[in-house]
Amino acid sequence: MGLDNAGKTTTLYKLHLGEAVTTAPTIGSNVEEVWDLGGQESLRTSWATYYRGTHAVIVVIDSTDRARINIIKDELFRLLQHGDLEGAVVLVFANKQDLKDAMSPAEITDALSLHSIKNHDWHIQASCAITGEGLYDGLGWIAQKVA
Ligand code: GDP
Repeated sequence: MGLDNAGKTTTLYKLHLGEAVTTAPTIGSNVEEVWDLGGQESLRTSWATYYRGTHAVIVVIDSTDRARINIIKDELFRLLQHGDLEGAVVLVFANKQDLKDAMSPAEITDALSLHSIKNHDWHIQASCAITGEGLYDGLGWIAQKVA
């Protein structure tokens, strides 16, 4: 999950098809092995519908989007309180690392206060969804946690 324009759809299709696709803003969800949920304001309340049975939450961040990093932080902490996500691990993709004004994973870790997450294992992974860089490293972390 993540806000609109973060790169969720690009990530999903890069993993699934091995090639970048041209995307339109996600309305609703594309259900594959990961859920790509529309991040636009009006859709955020529907995220909870998908929580049950979830082993891992993948949050995709547009690392250049400094203006909205606080929104992600609030949403992340709110969702991690949800009972249906007990035991789920959290992978954060610090996406768009190819852009020169991207925040580093360390900056995003601070901005999201990831170190204050106590009840979930978490990991942050630098990524570029267009080239695929970092995507399999991130999934590899989930695989060894969930196995
Ligand atoms: P979504 O709304 O989260 O599903 O975001 P999209 O996957 O539709 O991506 C939004 C825009 O960001 C598109 O123009 C993508 O091509 C672009 N994008 C996604 N990932 C990256 C990335 O790693 N680097 C750059 N430069 N652009 C990206």
